[in-house]
Amino acid sequence: MSKTTENLLQQEVDKRRTFAIISHPDAGKTTLTEKLLLFGGAIREAGTVKARKASKHATSDWMEIEKQRGISVTSSVMQFDYEGHRVNILDTPGHQDFSEDTYRTLTAADSAVMLIDVAKGVEAQTIKLFQVCAKRGIPIFTFINKLDREGRSPFDLMEELEQVLGIRSVPMNWPIGTGRELCGVYDRTLNQVELFQGDDHSNIQVQKVEDYNDPMIRQMAGDFLHDQLCQDLELLDVAGDPFDMEKVQRGELTPVFFGSAINNFGVQTFLENFLKLAPKPEPRKSTAGVIEPTDEKFSGYVFKIQANMNPAHRDRIAFLRIVSGKFQRGMSVKHARMGKEIKLSQPQQFLAQDRDIVQEAFPGDIIGLFDPGIFRIGDSLSQGSEVVFDELPTFSPEIFAKVTVKNALKHKQYQKGIDQLTEEGTIQVFQTVSFDDTLLGVVGQLQFEVFEYRMKGEYGVDVQLQRMPYQFARWIIDDNIDPSKFRINSTLVKDKKGNYVVLFENEYAMRTAMEKNPTAKFLETAP
Ligand code: GDP
Repeated sequence: MSKTTENLLQQEVDKRRTFAIISHPDAGKTTLTEKLLLFGGAIREAGTVKARKASKHATSDWMEIEKQRGISVTSSVMQFDYEGHRVNILDTPGHQDFSEDTYRTLTAADSAVMLIDVAKGVEAQTIKLFQVCAKRGIPIFTFINKLDREGRSPFDLMEELEQVLGIRSVPMNWPIGTGRELCGVYDRTLNQVELFQGDDHSNIQVQKVEDYNDPMIRQMAGDFLHDQLCQDLELLDVAGDPFDMEKVQRGELTPVFFGSAINNFGVQTFLENFLKLAPKPEPRKSTAGVIEPTDEKFSGYVFKIQANMNPAHRDRIAFLRIVSGKFQRGMSVKHARMGKEIKLSQPQQFLAQDRDIVQEAFPGDIIGLFDPGIFRIGDSLSQGSEVVFDELPTFSPEIFAKVTVKNALKHKQYQKGIDQLTEEGTIQVFQTVSFDDTLLGVVGQLQFEVFEYRMKGEYGVDVQLQRMPYQFARWIIDDNIDPSKFRINSTLVKDKKGNYVVLFENEYAMRTAMEKNPTAKFLETAP
């Protein structure tokens, strides 16, 4: 590689920030995403993202289910430029009915923004998504939203982060008053205040100050709020965790920002701080050793496949995260699993609503590849020599249903559908040891609906799903597995590869089984 090409690639890598926003539904993810896109000039009008979420998707051709329910089943990608950075936001469905796709999308992110409602604190879905990020050890930044509403005290929320998520936090700014009394935030690193003007909080003024004792703040906020601010910040200076970049990078410490997305308050300073602190695309492990983003040869992996974006054409889009090198439209790459060269001629990029054809892209970017049925989740593509990235994680299913085909004559298509949808990662499939029933396992109810819909639409098969009472799956490793031991509030099944798995109805049954089988190992996912 020539020196200039190398430098250019390095520059492109350095400016990229690829992240996902994780939150519980209603915390304000759509609102925050929209404000970020507005700053980046990627959309011109407020309401664009919102409209996509709420409307019936009149202009796009997302899956029928998405249209019916007005939610984003599958995640997309949004890209914009801001002050020399190229930002990629991976959108994850915020609806309760999220799926394994949500989890897998997180593997394509280099960092995460955890969005929390100031009144509700850490909620169920936040915990799940946080844990997936924590397992990967990626940096997590926290934005505490809806500061304009009455909420919990900032100290209380910090304690909850530690108690519930096990992560220490370092506030980057601090509210001056809260709820109706909120008049601004104090930025601890920049020593500046961001103040609301007027009753409707519509006007924002940013002012440099000496430190938090500055009389200017007292003048603007009044004695009471200023005293409170000084007290809080003194306490933080003495007893709080200092900012430590290495701990942030390891995911042990989360920088916390307070703001209000809907009022655009604290959003810009958050964005600027975040872009400064968030990591650029990192090296990834592969069978060919660690692959640096600046490796000359292009490589990447498929983390998600979206079917039926255009039902008329039945096309599928495989989402690829670029790990190294430069992508150029029309380039030939090696498809490691299939052992052949393929040409990438129809790549698409997803910027808010429009689909554009991408001519070139760099590490950290996500491109959508037209998929005539040749990609699977986890597939690696690379230029020149063969590279296979670490297998994408699977997740322990939590909801189960027995599946049967309504018309026995359709058995062949049914089997084909099950095989393909399992391979794609839409569902996990199990056979019971006792009756050879077929059970499906998912992490979100919506996966069942997508399964039913696609079995009918793509394979012409009507299926019947019957919910089973199991809540936990544990892959069991033991020399001598006795099915009769797993009859009470549990059942023994086999996964696609023939591994034994026990499904439990409740935590008590699971704990009892573990105690009674001390030599066995119980794993949350396939070994
Ligand atoms: P999502 O489900 O996480 O995407 O949440 P939305 O962005 O749709 O927001 C949920 C609700 O919270 C909407 O009614 C928003 O208008 C509201 N909301 C978002 N941000 C704020 C905020 O900063 N303050 C207040 N008061 N409401 C907000």
